[in-house]
Amino acid sequence: MGRLAGKTVFITGASSGIGEASARQFADEGSNLILTARRLEKLQQLQSELTKSHPNIHVHAVQLDVRDKKQIEKVISELPENVKNVDILLNNAGMVIGTDPLVEVEEDVIDQMLATNVKGLVLLTQAIVPGMKERGVGHVINIGSVAGKQAYGGGSIYCATKFAVDAITKALAIELVETPIRVSQICPGLVNTEFSTIRFRGDKEKADSVYKGLQPLVADDIAELIVFTAGRPAHVNIADMLVFPVNQA
Ligand code: NDP
Repeated sequence: MGRLAGKTVFITGASSGIGEASARQFADEGSNLILTARRLEKLQQLQSELTKSHPNIHVHAVQLDVRDKKQIEKVISELPENVKNVDILLNNAGMVIGTDPLVEVEEDVIDQMLATNVKGLVLLTQAIVPGMKERGVGHVINIGSVAGKQAYGGGSIYCATKFAVDAITKALAIELVETPIRVSQICPGLVNTEFSTIRFRGDKEKADSVYKGLQPLVADDIAELIVFTAGRPAHVNIADMLVFPVNQA
């Protein structure tokens, strides 16, 4: 068994896409899992599947909206004994709504993206890092985006949230530099998940048109890099990783 066997991984947004793929790959490494997202049935299906296929690991599934501080506190205070000590926090939950120019973005859309992609990530980090500090172990892995490195028209607010993730990751790494806790960011380019459909408000045709002329990444491509990052020896930190499909620049 490798370095990740017996480690406990807390995943936000484990009900689909990159979070779900990461859960499967961490399970293959023998890690225990805390699966969170808003769609509980999806988490429970994944929990039941992974518990059957990996009887050696503990899998806890719990509904969590990362925008809700009270819910976060409750979920963490009620973690079962066998997954209480979180070794790896995968801050993955995130979304984009619409491609509207800045002057037309509705207030509710601004609030939702900021609350999910920025506030939620911060709240989870605040809730879990103190326990890591106490135990002297831990790894925070944030899912940023190429949109956090270069802005594009129609993506002002989403880009702002991912630029914020970039800044938060760097500041947190500096704040924790004298501890053994590692802080990493992985920034994908185009990945074919539900994300694109949500971005185009359910219009699958428009969502797929984004991938014209290239072969998009799949969730497993990013999950592999997440597991690789988490599995480095304790003195090695992959601080930042930018990953494109070939033909996306
Ligand atoms: P998906 O839409 O497949 O997954 C997003 C996940 O986030 C879902 O599990 C969703 O679960 C969860 N989520 C959304 N809102 C909340 C919330 N308020 N509380 C808790 N969970 C929430 O997309 P991806 O897998 O592609 O996205 C994962 C991450 O990757 C995101 O941070 C995204 O910004 C980033 N990313 C994606 C790219 C892409 O091209 N796909 C490119 C670059 C970055 P539920 O609805 O059940 O709550």
